[in-house]
Amino acid sequence: MDFSWTDEQLAYKRAVIEFATRELNDGLIDRDRQGELCLENWKKCAQFGIQGLPIPEEYGGSGADILTTMLIMEGLGYGCRDNGLIFAINAQLLSVQMPILTFGTEEQKQKYLPAMCSGYMIGAHGMSEPDSGSDAYSLHTHAERCRGGYILSGTKTFVTNAPIADMALVFATVDPAKGMWGVTAFLVDQETPGFTISRDIDKMGLRTSPMAELIFQDCFIPAENRLGPEGIGAKIFNSSMEWERSCILASHLGAMERQLDTCVTYARERKQFGQSISKFQSVANRIVDMKLRLETARLLLYKVAWLKMAGKPATMEAALVKLYLSECFVQSGLDAIKVHGGYGYMTEFGIERDLRDAVGGMIYSGTSDIQRNIAARMMGL
Ligand SMILES: Cc1cc2nc3c(=O)[nH]c(=O)nc-3n(C[C@H](O)[C@H](O)[C@H](O)COP(=O)(O)OP(=O)(O)OC[C@H]3O[C@@H](n4cnc5c(N)ncnc54)[C@H](O)[C@@H]3O)c2cc1C
Repeated sequence: MDFSWTDEQLAYKRAVIEFATRELNDGLIDRDRQGELCLENWKKCAQFGIQGLPIPEEYGGSGADILTTMLIMEGLGYGCRDNGLIFAINAQLLSVQMPILTFGTEEQKQKYLPAMCSGYMIGAHGMSEPDSGSDAYSLHTHAERCRGGYILSGTKTFVTNAPIADMALVFATVDPAKGMWGVTAFLVDQETPGFTISRDIDKMGLRTSPMAELIFQDCFIPAENRLGPEGIGAKIFNSSMEWERSCILASHLGAMERQLDTCVTYARERKQFGQSISKFQSVANRIVDMKLRLETARLLLYKVAWLKMAGKPATMEAALVKLYLSECFVQSGLDAIKVHGGYGYMTEFGIERDLRDAVGGMIYSGTSDIQRNIAARMMGL
């Protein structure tokens, strides 16, 4: 495996850190408190090229490979403290744009991808339902065939970006008796009659990424809005989950490096008992553990990118990196608070927010238990 970066890639990473640090952090404590996404910052990211990173140039993107995409997401996570904004962008890029790019018709790609890359259209991904989460294919949302298309009925919950979405990629079954082979994907525009978006759902962390329910009541979807053939919804969902497991946490890696740098600086400057707290072995060891987690998680993440670039299967590695990196981010968030003492716990210093944001990573895109199940299955257990 060769993880050496070109000068061009490193310059791109430095540029994204500089852009994110300068443009994306103002007013974050208030936005986090209010649970508000900053649309202006969403558009700034699009102008910088984030929403189009791995999307080919013909659809408005820059056609970056997966390793470069991860590196830039890592830089974004280092410079931008607004984990919710990055999560919301990733939710669109990896689980709406990538499935459309992979499975969409030319018309669907032309309709959605350039508008999303440029930040003028926002997409949401609706799979989870009130009664089906980890067991995603037990979904109840139903698509009944009718003349010219389908009638969609059901409710999707915990949908990131729903309150601001112009469209949603929605999974439904055309035949519950077929189990996962009945699952089919649809692209539903926000103004479609019978489609409504519920109350905002308030949450512990990632508060700047808005969330709501999608409700479909006898909602007519024309056949040309189906994504891929009938019955390949599970394949589409699995493909987007593998993208999410591989890439969505790259920004958290950057956030962990920022936490580490902040802790090193603070531990050197903060004095107790007449010396820097970094001179206390307990504090130094805690920071070394943060460094160890960062470096081991980074190796796992880059290995997944390398495997995918080489066209090799990465199901096991993607599950392991999702599991490991998300749990490392939680532990490092806790350690960063400990290093900062009371200042780490107080909202105004901006340290505690990372921990609240990190907890979601152990749940979305498949919980840690589900990642262990995947790894166990791959080992024949
Ligand atoms: C921040 C955030 C953003 C999200 N965004 C979206 C989105 O945009 N679109 C979307 O569709 N969904 C989204 N979700 C929903 C997410 O995908 C689900 O919450 C997740 O899949 C878990 O489902 P559940 O909440 O129903 O929990 P459940 O599946 O009910 O799980 C409850 C507990 O049981 C455990 N468990 C369940 N089954 C097993 C098993 N087989 N083996 C071992 N343990 C098991 C779980 O690990 C968990 O601890 C989001 C969630 C969060 C937290």
